[in-house]
Amino acid sequence: MTRYIFITGGVVSSLGKGLASAALGALLQARGFKVRLCKLDPYLNVDPGTMSPFQHGEVYVTDDGAETDLDLGHYERFTGVPAKADDNTTTGRIYTSVLSRERRGDYLGATIQVIPHITDEIKSFIRSKDGTADFVLCEIGGTVGDIEGLPYLEAIRQFGNEIGESRALFLHVTLLPYIPAAGEIKTKPTQHSVKELMSAGIRPKILLCRSDREITDDQRGKISLFCNIDRDKVIPALDVKSIYEVPLTYHKEGLDIQVLNCFGLSAKEPDLSKWHEIVRRVHNPEGRVKIAIVGKYTNLTDSYKSLNESLTHGGIANNVAVDLKFLESEIFEQPDTMEHLADVQGILVPGGFGVRGTEGKIKAVQFAREKKIPYFGICFGMQMAVIEVARNLCGIKGANSTEFGPCSEPVIALMTEWVKGDIKEARGENVDLGGTMRLGAYPAILGKDTRIAEIYGKNEISERHRHRYEVNTTYRERLESAGLKFSGLSPDGLLPEIVENNNHPWFIGVQFHPELKSKPFDPHPLFVSFIKAAIAQTRLV
Ligand code: GLN
Repeated sequence: MTRYIFITGGVVSSLGKGLASAALGALLQARGFKVRLCKLDPYLNVDPGTMSPFQHGEVYVTDDGAETDLDLGHYERFTGVPAKADDNTTTGRIYTSVLSRERRGDYLGATIQVIPHITDEIKSFIRSKDGTADFVLCEIGGTVGDIEGLPYLEAIRQFGNEIGESRALFLHVTLLPYIPAAGEIKTKPTQHSVKELMSAGIRPKILLCRSDREITDDQRGKISLFCNIDRDKVIPALDVKSIYEVPLTYHKEGLDIQVLNCFGLSAKEPDLSKWHEIVRRVHNPEGRVKIAIVGKYTNLTDSYKSLNESLTHGGIANNVAVDLKFLESEIFEQPDTMEHLADVQGILVPGGFGVRGTEGKIKAVQFAREKKIPYFGICFGMQMAVIEVARNLCGIKGANSTEFGPCSEPVIALMTEWVKGDIKEARGENVDLGGTMRLGAYPAILGKDTRIAEIYGKNEISERHRHRYEVNTTYRERLESAGLKFSGLSPDGLLPEIVENNNHPWFIGVQFHPELKSKPFDPHPLFVSFIKAAIAQTRLV
């Protein structure tokens, strides 16, 4: 029987609801339960694929090719359960499906309304998760009180009512702000937020209280009294140094046991040894390395969420702490700025779109190549590396990507067709921007005696993609004779997936996004190897 845990957020946004959901999922899993996590986003976009990373942070891509919310990345990193397209929905998607049915005449003349048509659609998304999982954790995006969130609250209220208390639990994440002038944390915003939830007909049974300091017994009692919640179900969620401590601290505060109590369930003690080991390593690094991330969205580090985590995982595997130095690539378009890269042991150019800052990224690649600093190019970062080598080693001065307009030497270009399994996929011209990318998992075959095959320890891999442009294979011979080996290709041999330069300590570009699959307890081999190469640099100085 599948039980549902609905996670809402109150008081302010950015409370880490996604992380809280992921950590609770990990705890239930550690007790032997099968979990599934999903997210309902109240915004109107159909998916975050067309949103600016400045607005929304990273777009997390699933194996089955959906562009989803970054919280799905937390879910997958914490539980190891691969996220799927139907783990995420948005108001845009809900309305699109209701309206297209209305146009088809499926509603037989009825007046279409938020209640029941939109709420029914939301409920059918939730109900579709019923199945093999013991627990489905459903996170509701946004903050209680938002206008857009109302249909979701109504839908989960109805759903909870339909399946009953033995199968549905409402958990509310709130904030206890500290007011310096009063010298104490305040419970009033939490009281208001619970009141707001109650006015939507939802009675939370567990409160997860975010706070930057200890919550006293008195305060816990007060919240319990005013919010009508058992005292031991008012769970402190204090700030921690590393996100990987969260499952352990929640367990210590009794979150998982209280969840089980609400359902009247008992279970074995959780096996948290892997989390203890991760946290031990995070807190006891044997050294440090500094990695530069040269990108465009560097003042919102959420844009590179999975990337930041993967680099941390590479550090955990190598027993070092990884310090990230975010650099806006445009600075390298000014003279005498390369010293920004003088103190780093590795340079990474991540995924990106559009021409702004690309010349700076190409400069950073050149610096890494010439100074023999480990270089990792991810997606756009691979394309920048190919342009750099084409221009500076092959003498193809006009080398560029057609993403930035017509050019005489299109070393990076749009492929209009490619093959996935037995199916030929095509990228139509003049189609909506939301549907033109090569998205999701694709296999790649790694060349024999290549560094990449040695790193993966196998010859066939599957990685997730999110891009429109490809390395143009007509330049392959010239690039390879300059030392840039095409060491991994799509199974039909048409699309370059990996390039590597072996006249260098570590210079690899990949067309896919390995960061989407790295986990703290299963770090991605490319990040483990990159950090290892960076450590070797610290020994050189
Ligand atoms: N803009 C490039 C493309 O569309 C790279 C995309 C990316 O880095 N994810 O191919």
